Amino acid sequence: MAEPQAAQRVLVVMAHPDDGEFMCGAAIARLAREGHHIDYCLLTNGDCGTRDPAIKTRAQLAQIRQGEAQEAARRLGVTRDVIFLNYVDSMLQPTLDLRRDVTRVIRQTRPQIVITQDPTTFYHGQSYINHPDHRCVGEVTLGAIMPSASMRLIFPELYYDEGLEPHDVKELYLTNTTHTDRWLEVTPADLECQVAALKAHTSQISRDPAEWVEAGAKEEAAEARQHGHDFTYANGFKYFRFGR
Ligand SMILES: [Zn+2]
Repeated sequence: MAEPQAAQRVLVVMAHPDDGEFMCGAAIARLAREGHHIDYCLLTNGDCGTRDPAIKTRAQLAQIRQGEAQEAARRLGVTRDVIFLNYVDSMLQPTLDLRRDVTRVIRQTRPQIVITQDPTTFYHGQSYINHPDHRCVGEVTLGAIMPSASMRLIFPELYYDEGLEPHDVKELYLTNTTHTDRWLEVTPADLECQVAALKAHTSQISRDPAEWVEAGAKEEAAEARQHGHDFTYANGFKYFRFGR
């Protein structure tokens, strides 16, 4: 973060209940530890994310995953209720309805800082194709930040019917990116929070994540050191600061 002195309002917007914990959980824990006000919005409730034949319906899984998401957020230090938009898992499309719904959340929570996913990430390396929902959450959130949240006459029902004033976001951090240009230093305690939060997703986690969480944060810190930062552990982001 740009080392903000005062408490900021931060909005994390992710596609699935475990995305934030997997991708940048230590950074979220750091922000919570520093006293920033964090709202956490999930576009889906993860109701398709299982290979377990004992889970028969999406409704059954949705209930489990909503509970896990709330507990995971609590373990990161988020004190507010997770906001669920309850779109169907794995079916996200960058529709105007979805952009309006994210715009509504931005105007309600009025964050200076938004954290979401990079919509340009189609794959990593030779063994990972990015989930289409991960690209979609980035696309709709970027469109919601600029221009929809700022303009009264875009989605006029939000202002005229719901009384939601326009809002300008100041900073944007994209996780799950191949264009990292900003690093947030994190501590071993932040990594422990990330691991504990990941373990709250008991329907998703089959092995202890501690090893790869630490290895990933070390790897990102090594990249940060090439850019002049003296970090041991870090989470990397593509960063924007809006001059308005
Ligand atoms: Zn996901």
